Amino acid sequence: MNLGLVNKTALVLGASRGLGAAIAAGLAREGATVYAAARSVEKVETWRIDLPEDAGPVLPCAVDLSDLKSIDGLVDDLLEKGGVDILINNTGGPPSCTVLDATRSDWLSQFETMAANIFHLTGRLLPAMQARKWGRIITLTSSGVEQPIPRLALSNGIRSAIVGWSKTLADEVAADGVTVNILLPGRIHTQRVDELDAIAARRSEKSQADIAAASATSIPARRYGRPEEFGDVAVFLASERASYITGSKIRVDGGAIRGV
Ligand code: NAD
Repeated sequence: MNLGLVNKTALVLGASRGLGAAIAAGLAREGATVYAAARSVEKVETWRIDLPEDAGPVLPCAVDLSDLKSIDGLVDDLLEKGGVDILINNTGGPPSCTVLDATRSDWLSQFETMAANIFHLTGRLLPAMQARKWGRIITLTSSGVEQPIPRLALSNGIRSAIVGWSKTLADEVAADGVTVNILLPGRIHTQRVDELDAIAARRSEKSQADIAAASATSIPARRYGRPEEFGDVAVFLASERASYITGSKIRVDGGAIRGV
């Protein structure tokens, strides 16, 4: 299947590792030009070196998603170059905590970085997509928006707001050829998942391997997902071929979410 991604330009946020890196690499493999945004741009090299010679160019660019000035600097640069066709909204995950432990300031600071700043960045990049009558906005959230995950109160709450934002935006720009979708990772094996398993292990005085094994057993597929499996879904959604999918939440979870 020709995904029609050659000659498309993408901005991938949080591209230094994990799911962001897998999506950025997948888009480049399909020939797209990829701006790989990260706080530490040198980390982009850790995966860029493995790309085949015929991959599209990967251009590392610095951004700190907690800093509005840094975001506006990146957007100004990209708009000067004509903007992007594809935007992958991926942020770091918030710290693990219960609702009872989360403070007002935790909610505000995490909402700013994970939601308000992403809404702002998207709003600035959208008009160029609308003018071209083609665009893809894909935002990563979590399976926790459908089945809240214990001790991930900030993630469950803030990401549910992001789903409402995405669905509302999808309706507003569908007629302009811009699709807006949400991806729900279940448990995809990245450093973040290892870190969360390590926290759970310390809390329960079990080994991290035991926590990971129990977690994998609870998933119908009986394993964690691979970042490339997740990246492939994002690449398809970003492609020409996914032109009639908008306003959707797409699970990539090996069946982990129990509801239909
Ligand atoms: P990760 O922690 O491995 O990667 C997050 C990326 O975001 C990193 O590149 C990190 O450097 C970057 N980042 C963090 N804070 C930033 C900031 N202020 N400015 C710029 N970049 C910043 O996480 P991941 O596993 O790749 O997951 C990506 C997102 O999806 C996270 O928000 C995570 O919570 C969420 N998620 C992941 C899973 C999973 O199974 N991996 C499941 C549910 C939700």
